[in-house]
Amino acid sequence: SWDWTHRDPDYLPPEIDTTKPSIARVYDAFLGGKDNFAVDRAIAMEGMRHFPDRGEGTRNNRAMLFRGVKYMAEQGVDQFLDIGSGLPTMDNTHSVAQRINPAAKVVYVDNDPIVLAHARAILQTDERTRVITADMREPEVILDHPDVEGFLDFSRPIGLLLVAVVHHLADAEDPNGLVDAYKARLAPGSYMQLTHFCSCAPEMRELEAVLLQMLGTGRARDMPEIARFFAGLDLVEPGVVHVPEWRPEEPVRHPLDLGGICVAGGVGRKP
Ligand code: SAM
Repeated sequence: SWDWTHRDPDYLPPEIDTTKPSIARVYDAFLGGKDNFAVDRAIAMEGMRHFPDRGEGTRNNRAMLFRGVKYMAEQGVDQFLDIGSGLPTMDNTHSVAQRINPAAKVVYVDNDPIVLAHARAILQTDERTRVITADMREPEVILDHPDVEGFLDFSRPIGLLLVAVVHHLADAEDPNGLVDAYKARLAPGSYMQLTHFCSCAPEMRELEAVLLQMLGTGRARDMPEIARFFAGLDLVEPGVVHVPEWRPEEPVRHPLDLGGICVAGGVGRKP
């Protein structure tokens, strides 16, 4: 575990391998963050060479994450389960939710231990936030975890966030079955926000090829496949769309550019 008394600023916990790329750090590199290593930046650079969106796609995704959280908090949701939460950035799910409702609780889940290491430093004093290292492919482990089951009240609405994480599951891992397992545990009135790499543009196939080759993961699916993840939920207007078009706060310029079309998603409410 992380030794907080360590004085060496370059110290890294032994579970952090800087020679192998990490999804969370590659995403951070695309966002223009500083919590990444050369091996991660090489993938982001190669990705942007084939898909020259200058990282706009990741920033559009993150912006839609926050608009969705804000929307759910405004509907009265005061507890969130953010799976595949990624490294903390300038803004985060708990800060967005707590701006609407200071009592809002958030559990962050990521299978990359670097997320826990970074998030702990930020969240040490936040009583309404938890962060655990667990894998989305093990729904029971996450849903029965004491920091999830014992912290969130599953008899009341929860905002489930599966934002830019399901595209890291292969078809053979049954992404639909996994998403259904999470939805099944939610109380009526709960929401799910999900975003996903969209295969709408031919250029996306090139980005997908770079990610699959260099990172081993990152699959684009088409709109009907993405919409299918919301089965059993009532879609919040405007439905499943390219992320810049999900309840934008400023006018959206058409046609959408590469950074606008690479990710699609929406928010659904459990009846
Ligand atoms: N949700 C954040 C956002 O949209 O800004 C971060 C998205 S980032 C592209 C995907 C995150 O999902 C990474 O931090 C990665 O470590 C995590 N992840 C990938 N596969 C996962 C799995 N099987 N279980 C849990 N987390 C996973």
